[in-house]
Amino acid sequence: MKTQCMLGGGGPAGMMLGVLLARAGVSVLVLEKHADFLRDFRGDTVHPSTMELLHELGWLNDFPKLPHQKAQEVAACKSAAPP
Ligand SMILES: Cc1cc2nc3c(=O)[nH]c(=O)nc-3n(C[C@H](O)[C@H](O)[C@H](O)COP(=O)(O)OP(=O)(O)OC[C@H]3O[C@@H](n4cnc5c(N)ncnc54)[C@H](O)[C@@H]3O)c2cc1C
Repeated sequence: MKTQCMLGGGGPAGMMLGVLLARAGVSVLVLEKHADFLRDFRGDTVHPSTMELLHELGWLNDFPKLPHQKAQEVAACKSAAPP
């Protein structure tokens, strides 16, 4: 297998760099050691800054078509000080 650029890790950083390089005409191979995305930290919430990136990539129109739930409100509470 031949490629111009090999990226180690298919997390958000690796996948984003892969997309940007591919769009720039670079052949890219992203290697990810996990076979699935079943890890707890994989995007429970999509932040406004992430939405901005999706907009810049031209994906914002299609993104809401994916299964998701909207957070109608967010609350925070002050926890007790540690002893
Ligand atoms: C508990 C928790 C909850 C979070 N919740 C959210 C959230 O709701 N929304 C949000 O936007 N962000 C959330 N984050 C932050 C988000 O997960 C990180 O900002 C993001 O994953 C960082 O991306 P990354 O590509 O830099 O690293 P990673 O996501 O860690 O990606 C690195 C990838 O490299 C792979 N890898 C490692 N070594 C190798 C190797 N030798 N060969 C091949 N592959 C390899 C790993 O399997 C991994 O997939 C959360 C983080 C944590 C810890």
